[in-house]
Formats: sequence, structure tokens, C-alpha cells
Amino acid sequence: MKKIKEKLLIPGPVEVADDVLGSMGRPVLAHYGSQWTAFYNETVSYLKQIFNTSGDVFILVGSGTAGVDACIGSAFSVGEKILIGLNGFFGDRLKSIAESHGLQVIPVEVPWGEPLIPEAFEKGLKENPDAKGIAVVHLETSTGVVNPIREIGEIAKAHKVAYAVDAVSSLGGLPFDMDECHIDFCASCSQKCLGAPPGLAPVAVSDFGWEVIDRKKQHHAGWYLNLKIWKQYAVEWGDWHPSPVTMATSNVAALNASLKSLITEGLAHRIERYKNLAARLREGLPKIGFPLYLPENLMASTLTPAYGPAGIATGEIVAYLFEKYGIRIAGGLGLLHNKIIRIGHMSPRITPNDIYFVIDALAEYARKHQK
Ligand SMILES: *Cc1c(COP(=O)(O)O)cnc(C)c1O
Repeated sequence: MKKIKEKLLIPGPVEVADDVLGSMGRPVLAHYGSQWTAFYNETVSYLKQIFNTSGDVFILVGSGTAGVDACIGSAFSVGEKILIGLNGFFGDRLKSIAESHGLQVIPVEVPWGEPLIPEAFEKGLKENPDAKGIAVVHLETSTGVVNPIREIGEIAKAHKVAYAVDAVSSLGGLPFDMDECHIDFCASCSQKCLGAPPGLAPVAVSDFGWEVIDRKKQHHAGWYLNLKIWKQYAVEWGDWHPSPVTMATSNVAALNASLKSLITEGLAHRIERYKNLAARLREGLPKIGFPLYLPENLMASTLTPAYGPAGIATGEIVAYLFEKYGIRIAGGLGLLHNKIIRIGHMSPRITPNDIYFVIDALAEYARKHQK
């Protein structure tokens, strides 16, 4: 096995297709004018298809967290209570973001590695009738668990509270239906399942989301990440300059190309490809001394978490694979630091050969290091 330069098998950023990279290498475009506006609007219309929404979509300049921050800050005001699902590192991040906006967080918790329980949100809303919303992570990337966003959405709708979802690592790689799941605020990023380089945070807002924003007496969202400002520019300047700030035009060109290829392939087909990669990987790992961290029915098809051989800190495995083979896999975050590895297969470029390459590299490591 030969070392390659850098093979990304992490949960973002992912390897991007050559035509996506190529579109980034063209001369820089201005972020206004009729041609730009048409191109930007086309990109937004692709995103609406992927979010599955008839609501509004904006492309914020920033990483996925900018999108999450914009959703939470725009939807809720200082002092308001919200229920937040906690079952991993990114749930905890969501809680920190909410607290940074002065919100009062009611935690709805299960242990890491388990999915959130919808009934617990029902109970939380009954106990806190003044709560204004629910926020959860769709795919908890720290564990690989997919949370039941549809069932939690039914509860948010029944109680008429705003519902925010962090779909940073799931949009474009898992089935997603924003409107059917009654999601009001949803954030994602360019560099994971959407298959483009880092730099952009697509955000979507439902009609009820706007009602929630418009009925607020006070806004605390600041300016740059305030979705009301983004909407105002889309409405007032939409025919020539659709964003309030300089858009990252080269990044939008890349995102446009990657979305076009996703839509041409079809999300269902791409999901099948990822499931196929997952099946090969999950068959191979336990045989070489890497037991899976989760039962199959809880694991996202885009990300495989596994334990390492007994007694080995997984950070060492991650470092070895990169140094010896140029393969980047991820270690554990937070509570799972040095306890698991995480292999991402959420890029349209990943092939079965890449999966066999990582399995062979891990097998070689295990042979050498088994205690
Ligand atoms: C990657 C990730 C984030 C953070 O995204 P950035 O683009 O690094 O800001 C947030 N939430 C989830 C679920 C993620 O997987």
C-alpha cells in the first residue's frame, strides 16, 4: 500500500469533485448585477430542492456554525426558554450558542450514543409552557447517531413553538424534508454532504419562522447573522445585490456545481451509494479488531464510528494513518476523545476502493499494535 497525499475520510471537509474545484478557479465574479443575481438565485433554488422547502433560503458567508448561530439568534430573544436536545458534542455546542444569546436552556438529555426521545420534548413543553422553541441536531456527528427530527417536529408543531435543526452534517447525505418535519429554522454547511469547499452556510426559514421573528418585540441578533437583515436585502435589493454583504462568489460557484451534480445524480441514488460504502466498511471493521460503536439501526449511513483495538488511544491510530498512508480519519470528540475513530463517507468522490484502502491500513495498524 502506497502513501497518498491526503485522502479525506473525515466528517468534513470532504473531497470535492474536479469540476467543483475547477469552477472555483475561474476569474472572481462581482456579487451584484443581473448575471450574478440569476446565478445566485439558481443556487438558492437548488438548495430549496435539497432542503425540501417552500420557505426562504439564504447562503451565509461562514462555516456551518454561522448558520446555526444565525438561526438561534434570529429566532429567539434574550431570556426566552428553549428546549435543546443533548446527546453529543454538537448538542452541547448548540446549548453554548443558545446561552451566548442569553437564552434559558432546558436540556432534554440522553446518554451519548443514544437517539433523542421525542416524548421527552412533549414532557418538557408541558412542564415549561412558556418555552418558545426546540432546537436539535439532526446527525450528531460526534457519535454518528441520527436523531428523530420528524417526530420532534410533530411535537413542536402541536405546541406551536419554533423548531430549529442543525443539519450541518446531514443535508445532502441523508433523507431530508424540512417542510414535512415542520422545521422552521435550519442550518447546513458547504463542506460536508453538499460536496463543496468550506466557506458557506446555507440557512432556511419557514413561513412560521418569519411569524416568530416578526412578532418579537426586541431583536438581539446583531446585524451580520440576523436573518431579518438577510431577508430585507433579498426583498429590497433582490434584483441586483441579493445579499447584505459581499458574497463569497467563488465559493458559490463551487456550491452551484456540486449541487447541480447532486441533483443530476439524485439524492436517493447518492444515499444508496453511501449505504453501499457503509455496508462494506461495517462488514470489514469488526473482523480486523475495530468493533462498531453503534448498532446498525442507529448509525447514519454517511459516517461510521468504531472502537479501536483494546487498550489503544484512538488518537494514535488517527495519527498513524495520516503519517503512514496520508489517510485522514477522525478521532472521538469530548467524552469520546481517544475512545473511538470516525470514518466519514459523505463525499460523492469516495469509492469502494477508498473503503478497502482504509480497512487495509487499519488492519496493518492492528497487526502491528495489538496488545
Ligand atoms: C461540523 C458540524 C458543525 C460545525 O460546523 P462548522 O462548519 O465547523 O462550523 C456543527 N454541527 C454539526 C452537527 C456538525 O457536524
